[in-house]
Amino acid sequence: MELTPSELERYSRQIQISGFGENGQRLLKNTVAVVTGVGGLGGTVALYLAIAGVGKIILVRGGNLRVDDLNRQILMTNSWVGQPRVYKAKETILNINPDIEVEVIPEFVTSENVDSLVKNSNIAFDCAFDFTERDLLNTACVRWRIPMVEAAMSGMEAYLTTIIPGETSCLSCIFPEKPKWDKWGFGVLGAVSGTLACLAALEGIKLLTGVGETLKGQLLTMDLGNTTFTKRRLYHDPECHTCGGLSQDHHNDAIQ
Ligand SMILES: [Zn+2]
Repeated sequence: MELTPSELERYSRQIQISGFGENGQRLLKNTVAVVTGVGGLGGTVALYLAIAGVGKIILVRGGNLRVDDLNRQILMTNSWVGQPRVYKAKETILNINPDIEVEVIPEFVTSENVDSLVKNSNIAFDCAFDFTERDLLNTACVRWRIPMVEAAMSGMEAYLTTIIPGETSCLSCIFPEKPKWDKWGFGVLGAVSGTLACLAALEGIKLLTGVGETLKGQLLTMDLGNTTFTKRRLYHDPECHTCGGLSQDHHNDAIQ
């Protein structure tokens, strides 16, 4: 799909970025992105994808807005408390950028819905708060070979990576044993979830447009309490129960 005059004007400042250009903008426009966990992290990811011009964003999150969400969920309003978050997220996003499409699914990620969410998307953003949903999304992304930006935080700490199935470690390789993060068991500050969210959205934009270098194969860990950023190479487990077979297929394809 070509860019309209209104889109060329809206995105003119980012089109000026070296390597981005109208082609980068077209690539974003032709992208379908799924974002799970539309909270302080996922909601902010969705916002930055939306204003960058990602053509279609699918927001997946069950449950209703609570007062204690409002310290970080910047797409929400106080008057929306008690109602499903995803509808307000869509309204806020479309008020800012009516040129894109937003689909909302007021559900959590389950084994029943995950394949339909992933297989028609070009990229997934894993922003759910528990590892059950994260594992389901990771497994589906490996199954459909869809790239996944993986972002998580606890307190003042956060981590981020970009997973390319068959090429990089998947979430199961990175965390064979899951951290025991409880739903509401850890503190979270809006500026921390927002910082991580901007970096996660940027990962996706870089991957989709080819501008800059992504974190694929590397894990960025951030201690925002003392502003320490560390990158380390990830171990890609050839025996991984989720992506091991895929890596082998990929390898064989490359040899043939
Ligand atoms: Zn793996």
